[in-house]
Amino acid sequence: MKCPRLEINLEKIRKNTLLIKNICSKQNIEVVGITKGFCAFLPIVRAYYKGGIKKFGDSRLLNLRRLTEGGIPGEKYLIRIPMLSEVSDVIKWSDVSLNSEIETIKALGIEAEKQNKNHSIILMVDVGDLREGVLPENVIDVVKSISMVPKINFMGLGLNVGCFGGVLPSFENTMILVNLAKAIKQVLDLEVDILSGGATSGLILIEKGELAPGINQFRVGEGIIIGTDTTGERNIKGAYQDTVKLVAEVIELKKKPSVPIGEIGRDGFGNKPHFENNGIRLRAILALGRQDVILEKLIPEDSRIKLLGGSSDHLILDVTESNNDFYVGKEIYFTLSYGTMLSLMTSEYVEKVCI
Ligand SMILES: *Cc1c(COP(=O)(O)O)cnc(C)c1O
Repeated sequence: MKCPRLEINLEKIRKNTLLIKNICSKQNIEVVGITKGFCAFLPIVRAYYKGGIKKFGDSRLLNLRRLTEGGIPGEKYLIRIPMLSEVSDVIKWSDVSLNSEIETIKALGIEAEKQNKNHSIILMVDVGDLREGVLPENVIDVVKSISMVPKINFMGLGLNVGCFGGVLPSFENTMILVNLAKAIKQVLDLEVDILSGGATSGLILIEKGELAPGINQFRVGEGIIIGTDTTGERNIKGAYQDTVKLVAEVIELKKKPSVPIGEIGRDGFGNKPHFENNGIRLRAILALGRQDVILEKLIPEDSRIKLLGGSSDHLILDVTESNNDFYVGKEIYFTLSYGTMLSLMTSEYVEKVCI
């Protein structure tokens, strides 16, 4: 089989989907399945669908387009604040977008009119992570402005934590959304249908019963596709983490010293390398590099293999301590984090194989 490749276990992904969906539906929370972590690769999207996901979200319009052209039914959410330069495609390929700039929302309205389509907006509220969103004190004014834009339906509020600032989700920060919804109803007499209260990092609140009541939507990617919660540094209980594995091939196997010979300058990426002298070691070079993935974040399945580093096209392993047999042409397996999966799925040099 071709190398490097990702081996994608669709059945495990379907089961993860079902698990997350069940956790959320216990509190009447609908799940928008986020597909950006795997470039909306259609076989995985279909596994989401079989697991019960009926709404899909992605940060890239190219991926949303792939969903529509691939015949995936259901509402499509654009989950990154749109660029002014892409509003035409936003209207074309998505039904709902997350927004924080009234200027962009007005441009979406003009475009919706042109294409004679309706478009819904979820207004993002910054509850402290300091990535996207309107500050809570400005929400009422902005919602009022949105409600006056023709062809634009104000659908609700959203929040995002655990991304830029690493802020953990809490009862308090999810309650901000619920209180704002009440205020919008009182002051503006507008219905707030959706309170999109989190991503994978927020699942812990549901599990612990600490989510503000009234939140009715989660946008989940990582927890489904790989069963982890990076922000909370945990595995989701009952979920599979080995849904996607990387396989790379040995192209050189030799005993070499552990310290380079000659004056040391910078490596191929401008860093000053540092080496420990462990004598002569058995080293394997794999055909895989930084162009495909952040090498340091890969986890060899064989825990006795040590990652030494690499360059744009080479990954160098110390296999001296392993009990396994090594040879040129051997395939080495790695498990992935969300970040490594994301970049490997994006690399066109990596084959994707469904099992
Ligand atoms: C990526 C993203 C999500 C999904 O996050 P996961 O951690 O993968 O569940 C949800 N909402 C927004 C706005 C995002 O950018």
